[in-house]
Amino acid sequence: MRTPKGLLFVISGPSGVGKGTICAKLLEREPNLRLSLSDTTRDAREGEIDGVNYSFITKEKFLANVENDAYLEWANVYDHFYGTPKSAVEMNIQSGIDTLLEIDTQGASIIKEKCPHGIFIFIAPPNYSALETRLRGRSTDSEETILKRLSQFGQEIRRMPMYDYVVVNDDLECAVDRVRSVIIAEHQRFANSTIFAELFKEDDVL
Ligand code: 5GP
Repeated sequence: MRTPKGLLFVISGPSGVGKGTICAKLLEREPNLRLSLSDTTRDAREGEIDGVNYSFITKEKFLANVENDAYLEWANVYDHFYGTPKSAVEMNIQSGIDTLLEIDTQGASIIKEKCPHGIFIFIAPPNYSALETRLRGRSTDSEETILKRLSQFGQEIRRMPMYDYVVVNDDLECAVDRVRSVIIAEHQRFANSTIFAELFKEDDVL
């Protein structure tokens, strides 16, 4: 039986919407799902670990990686560089592992061109003030950073129609279930299934 390829899921949404928490819960519940570890030039927040949350690298190293075509996509987000290393994603997909990219809307539009079979999920807040409350409540960012992130809200929402699915994070557990239902459904698509070829081999009964 040929190894089915893993699926590529791309999750985006405004800063503070709870993407990170949703992704962490998905990884706990979906054993065949792996998160792509991004490179970033921003400083680690308190509690973040290099090699776990991100690979925290210098701007020089990042730009050298760009020169070497090491990223599937990269973008300047809220004044810092973020990039998805190409090799790990390609390796996962080829070995049948579903891969999750938690990236901004600019990066998602690049992936949409390069990987049209990707599945694009936008996580939306129930309203703007819920987002603002969340962003302020997590108290990991300065006021300047919070304002910079909120100022991108309109731009991010305008890119929503490019996504295949929209999940509103009004309740964390419901939002996780909704994203999981997308993952489960996408695996049942005819195009993503190997069962037809398998059954067809049994041509004596067909
Ligand atoms: P944060 O600094 O809050 O961890 O992330 C800021 C934004 O950068 C979020 O929207 C996050 O999804 C996005 N991001 C994280 N990694 C990548 C990446 O590799 N590429 C792109 N384009 N965006 C990323």
